[in-house]
Amino acid sequence: MEQNELNYEEPTEKSNIEDDWIPISALQAYSYCPASCYYMLISCEFAENAYTVAGELAHQRVHSGEESICDDVPQHRAVRIFSFSHRISGVADLVEEKAGIFYPVEYKVGHQTPWKRGHIQLCAQALCLEEIQNTSIPYGYMFYAANRRRQQVIFDEMLRTQTITIITQVKQLYQQAQKPNSHYSTKCQGCSLYNICLPKETEMIQKYFLKLPNT
Ligand code: SF4
Repeated sequence: MEQNELNYEEPTEKSNIEDDWIPISALQAYSYCPASCYYMLISCEFAENAYTVAGELAHQRVHSGEESICDDVPQHRAVRIFSFSHRISGVADLVEEKAGIFYPVEYKVGHQTPWKRGHIQLCAQALCLEEIQNTSIPYGYMFYAANRRRQQVIFDEMLRTQTITIITQVKQLYQQAQKPNSHYSTKCQGCSLYNICLPKETEMIQKYFLKLPNT
């Protein structure tokens, strides 16, 4: 089977660095924790931990740009995507093509989690591909490397609305450039930014000052 091409005209470098364009990866960060999105987007701080290193290793093949065909389905890796109407851009891990429709597949290093991590990012990729192809994409897939399972994600109205809301919130965060409060939760246990953010310590200090009498 001859492999199809995902042909499109990329935005110019100038248009892509204008202030109101945001990276799709920031949407994933924001939906995980707004404070982590601030560190990524505004203060440009990054730290490694076991999860980020494992993520890099798991993404080695998808970042290679390799083209392949699996069960007659053409696969394109590390595909540059963008949306002029939403002003978002990024690189999709994997884009597959069936019956003339290109849909995204997002790789995650761990297992499927209850908070549906990555669905916003995947839906944002679909919004980009819909604009590039001038078509509608009904679903995409999450691929969980820990158990090598695929999960189909339907791009219903609720997920599309959530995604567009988060795009708006990330743009507001970027424009206001103010760090959201850090709240300690179970998510912090796996966060590589813990030693920069110090959410427990920050909350303790805030409580301490709240107890002080007004002078
Ligand atoms: S340590 Fe917790 S509050 Fe701070 S950025 Fe990470 S997840 Fe967010």
